Amino acid sequence: MICELKYEIKKLLDSQQGLEVDKKGKEYIIQGLYKYSLDYNGCIIQGKREIKLVVQDDFPNSIPKLYISNYPEHIEHIYADGNVCLATTGEMIYFLNENPSLISFINRFVNSFIYTLDWFDKYKTYPFGDRKHGYRGSIDYYLNDLKLTESQYKKMVWMILNDKYRGHTLCICKSGKKLRNCHGKYILPIIKNDLYKREFLHEAYNILIKDGKNVQRKSTK
Ligand SMILES: [Zn+2]
Ligand SMILES: [Zn+2]
Repeated sequence: MICELKYEIKKLLDSQQGLEVDKKGKEYIIQGLYKYSLDYNGCIIQGKREIKLVVQDDFPNSIPKLYISNYPEHIEHIYADGNVCLATTGEMIYFLNENPSLISFINRFVNSFIYTLDWFDKYKTYPFGDRKHGYRGSIDYYLNDLKLTESQYKKMVWMILNDKYRGHTLCICKSGKKLRNCHGKYILPIIKNDLYKREFLHEAYNILIKDGKNVQRKSTK
């Protein structure tokens, strides 16, 4: 993977003259002026913005982190240190497992956040609906996108915490299908990867004690 990551970083820098990369230990720190032209439903926004993207060399086994230093007051999803909560951990893990590519990750999560940022600058609203910050936003992904109930989500957490995945048993969502033909595709990538598992359980801890909003995401170094 390292080889592909280096190739992708080079490709990114070739197309983004304002960005530079610095390798510090296991981290690639990509920062500078990021130029964008993004189209959502025909509504195009473009500009340049100072960003910092931290990518571990074990990518895609760890989730890249985006930092923004200049942002509008009152916008959600940016912590005091500039770290952006791009999406629910489970959503990013599922995406990376299906698309193990830094460029795809940037297109999907970084660009949509930058779109949100510009939109919020102009209109003080959120273009993609009001994704809630902290545990409320996180649990919404599992309830709305994965169509689980709260107690089914807890079963998912329990299964991941205790390594109790059995593909041939009935799915937690009561669809009547086997786990492997149903929600297994969301659960298995997390169980199989210790780093994903740690991130997922950290998020689950925040969701279940319901104070994600006030808890800083711990660095996973
Ligand atoms: Zn957030
Ligand atoms: Zn299911």
